[in-house]
Amino acid sequence: MAEIKEIKKIGSERSSIHSHITGLGIDENGKAKYKADGLVGQVEAREAAWVVVQLIRQGKMAGKGILLVGPSGTGKTALAVGIAKELGEDTPFNTLNASEIYSVDLKKTEVLTQALRKSIGVRVRQKRMVYEGVVKEIKMKIARSKMNPYVQIPREVEIKLGTKDEERSLTAGEAIAEQISRQGVRKGDVIWIDAETGNVVKVGRAKGFEGVKTYDIESGKLVEIPAGPVKKEKELTNTFTLYDLDLTIAAQSFSITALFSAWTEREVNQDIRKQVDSYVKDLISKGVGELIPGVLFIDDAHMLDIETFSFLTKALEAELAPILVLATNRGTTKIRGTDVEAPHGMPLDLLDRLLIITTKPYTREENRDIIAIRAEELDIELDPQALEELTNLSVEDSLRYSIQLLEPSQVIARKAGRGVVKAEDVKEASRLFSDLRRSVKYVKENESLFLK
Ligand code: ATP
Repeated sequence: MAEIKEIKKIGSERSSIHSHITGLGIDENGKAKYKADGLVGQVEAREAAWVVVQLIRQGKMAGKGILLVGPSGTGKTALAVGIAKELGEDTPFNTLNASEIYSVDLKKTEVLTQALRKSIGVRVRQKRMVYEGVVKEIKMKIARSKMNPYVQIPREVEIKLGTKDEERSLTAGEAIAEQISRQGVRKGDVIWIDAETGNVVKVGRAKGFEGVKTYDIESGKLVEIPAGPVKKEKELTNTFTLYDLDLTIAAQSFSITALFSAWTEREVNQDIRKQVDSYVKDLISKGVGELIPGVLFIDDAHMLDIETFSFLTKALEAELAPILVLATNRGTTKIRGTDVEAPHGMPLDLLDRLLIITTKPYTREENRDIIAIRAEELDIELDPQALEELTNLSVEDSLRYSIQLLEPSQVIARKAGRGVVKAEDVKEASRLFSDLRRSVKYVKENESLFLK
């Protein structure tokens, strides 16, 4: 039944397709390095995005937004993630596909208001005693869900913190195990554990971890971590989004379970939002809270309609506004809900407020480098021919398709008893899973069967 095993990840954030991106990869002179912070190429767009980050920091983006224009798979979402990462670890980043506003259950303005509030953070400071250390080992006891045997539930976690000289083991129950697996904690990460409650308070990604060197959680700079784990008083910051607080007040309890179970996909009452806003203002005036505007990324923005565009234009001017990043791959097209043709299908008064960044198609080498980064992020070892095969597919089909084939190829390699993925595994994965061009061709060739 339950088993103890080394945990790599269970539904961790690394499975998100942009988890390899940790910033914009810009040097001290504002120039984009070809490959840095998980990003490859797209140099001008990254430099433009970096200028945007400076404008945001200087408070000069108020009332303005960004429009990313470029073909599918050219890294528009990746750039928006890079901007959020540059703004800081706890900057909320939230994506919405324009089609999501046409929900059956919720009004368009409600979907948008929720998205805007999910993209504004409130950082709350408090003093706590914590254990700080670098994760040396994680053992997770997991069980399979009775309801769904494919779902693994973390039951208990044993985590070893320390440096070469000093270690400390902590064992924690289901709630913490769940947190650790959800946050994708891995060896070499810096972790703070509340000395009183045993809760994991914060995890810092430790890129380039060697011995005791790691990245400081707050500044993001490479530092020496003191011999640890150290028990010390630390001013901790917790960041919630306004939406988290809306849900919490709505559920009239601060229980995490209530927060996630009862109030998803529901309309939030305006009175609740007012209560939250005044609570947040109170935290700010007491000097324990601080607002962090995050990034709201809306993909396929040409699918928004005229009402939504005017709602967003107004939202940009509000006192509490996130950084709005719209993305499209359309040229001139009708503004939805009107007969008016406009650039990118957007009204001019909104376009006037947007700084436009274009993204260009990648070269073969750039595709290869992106695939290699993604494979590394997923702990997938590719032999050189397998990488070449995936690069071929990215050029013939799409980058997204080859990235999607990484995990199936690994499953196929493992089935053959191999830890390293070979070209034949990639070919087999590509035989089993169709790309868009092939699936469309298949329907076309067999139209008569589909129409029966
Ligand atoms: P769409 O218009 O279809 O939404 P997009 O332009 O937003 O596409 P992404 O989703 O950002 O494209 O890119 C596809 C995949 O390639 C993602 O996994 C993304 O993280 C990765 N990617 C794209 N560009 C880069 C880059 N320059 N460096 C590293 N990874 C990248």
